[in-house]
Amino acid sequence: MTVGTLRVVVVGGGASGMSAASRVKRLLPKADVKVFERSGFVSYAPCGIPYLLGGVVGSLDKLVHYSVDFFRERRGIDVHVHASVEDAGKDYVEVSEGGRSKRYDWDVLVLATGARPVVPPIPGVELEGVLTLRNLEDGAKAKEMLARAERVGVVGGGYIGLEVAENLVRLGKKVLMFEMLPHIMPTLDHDVAKRVERELVEYGVELHLSEKVVEFGGGERVSRVVTEKGSYDVDLVFMAVGVRPDTALAERLGLKLGETRAVWTDSRMRTSLENVYAVGDVAETVNLVTGKRDWIPLAPAANKMGFVAGSNIAGMDIEFPGVVGTAITKAFGLEIGRTGLSEAQAKRLDYDVVSVSISAKTRAGYYPEPKAIKVKLVAEAESGRLLGAQVVGYEGVLARINTVAALLPWGATVRDLFFADLAYAPPFAPVWDPLVVAARVLMKKLH
Ligand SMILES: Cc1cc2nc3c(=O)[nH]c(=O)nc-3n(C[C@H](O)[C@H](O)[C@H](O)COP(=O)(O)OP(=O)(O)OC[C@H]3O[C@@H](n4cnc5c(N)ncnc54)[C@H](O)[C@@H]3O)c2cc1C
Repeated sequence: MTVGTLRVVVVGGGASGMSAASRVKRLLPKADVKVFERSGFVSYAPCGIPYLLGGVVGSLDKLVHYSVDFFRERRGIDVHVHASVEDAGKDYVEVSEGGRSKRYDWDVLVLATGARPVVPPIPGVELEGVLTLRNLEDGAKAKEMLARAERVGVVGGGYIGLEVAENLVRLGKKVLMFEMLPHIMPTLDHDVAKRVERELVEYGVELHLSEKVVEFGGGERVSRVVTEKGSYDVDLVFMAVGVRPDTALAERLGLKLGETRAVWTDSRMRTSLENVYAVGDVAETVNLVTGKRDWIPLAPAANKMGFVAGSNIAGMDIEFPGVVGTAITKAFGLEIGRTGLSEAQAKRLDYDVVSVSISAKTRAGYYPEPKAIKVKLVAEAESGRLLGAQVVGYEGVLARINTVAALLPWGATVRDLFFADLAYAPPFAPVWDPLVVAARVLMKKLH
């Protein structure tokens, strides 16, 4: 194998796959880099689909960062769309494209197959009008079906369910959200999630908590959601009960799966098989707060994993350190951010925790229109090490959650957060930033 003719096959043209492919091609312009993508799009943004449904994003093409032609012509990457990799062996892939099966050989394989929505075996789940969202085709189909729907069920109160619900309300739909747990947003603590629930209810979402869906009824098309507590008429249903790593191909290759059931990778994104890398939502990584293996399928990490794998394939030596579980979303006016461990998660992992929740304003008291913000901090009792934060409010959540996210990998303490030299000016924050106030109260508790 000579570097000039290195044959790299990437399976999956999402964020992580295209990032890996682009990186290899940039560093090794002569490499033969092929990307196989099952859907009709590469380099697209699934994260924008809820906003496409609600009309915030005007059209599907706006969710495509770069076109197939851009990658072919400007980056020299041999992109194949509507090309599904059906099988893989130690030096080849079998691709179904254009009604034919073709074999391509590789020197290096990158699995970037992403995650797929969980579809529990609920009777009736196969009915027309029970939808999941994964790729742009799903978004286009959902948008079309929404035109003929008034009452829409959303099963699952995670961030995708939340974003879909908000956008359906924006369209004037009646939204019924079903969550089998006692509160929505399982990565938030109960008290923080309750704040989010109030926002949903205020905007007219009919919230059914602790209510497990047991059946979907209807003729050909879904017309009823049946739960343990009742039966509800609907015209359409979005299933958003979580995702699983798409390991079908990895399993065919005999790759080791990690304890999270995603593909085991080392810090260079190498798998258990030589010359095979896994990146993005299909790959397991390390949680930098717990030091344990973890799987947190989100876009920023996917892009960086692709960058790391691509760099290493091209002969560099770069590590992907891991994640801390930082995420942000919004429900109507309310911004919702979280990073690290929630109090409930930390307790489940046997940490001796101390936490604090404070409510504050986002601007100096004399500056017009300050907004409400709530900060929850979680720390380890003995050491005072920060374990996580949750912030909800009507502005300024991103900066605050990112501040804690940046501190977490370094083992920062509550005191470190208190003394962090955060920016201040009246339109942006009070002179005692809500984060700093929370840290101060927590320091008192720790002592
Ligand atoms: C509705 C929605 C909203 C989201 N919002 C956010 C957000 O706000 N913030 C955030 O951080 N993350 C968000 N995410 C998650 C984010 O989209 C993913 O983390 C990111 O797309 C992962 O990139 P990836 O390349 O690993 O996987 P994907 O983007 O899923 O790409 C994988 C690709 O592989 C293809 N593929 C799979 N198997 C094969 C095969 N055998 N042959 C050929 N092709 C194959 C698939 O068709 C797919 O296009 C959201 C996801 C969804 C669905």
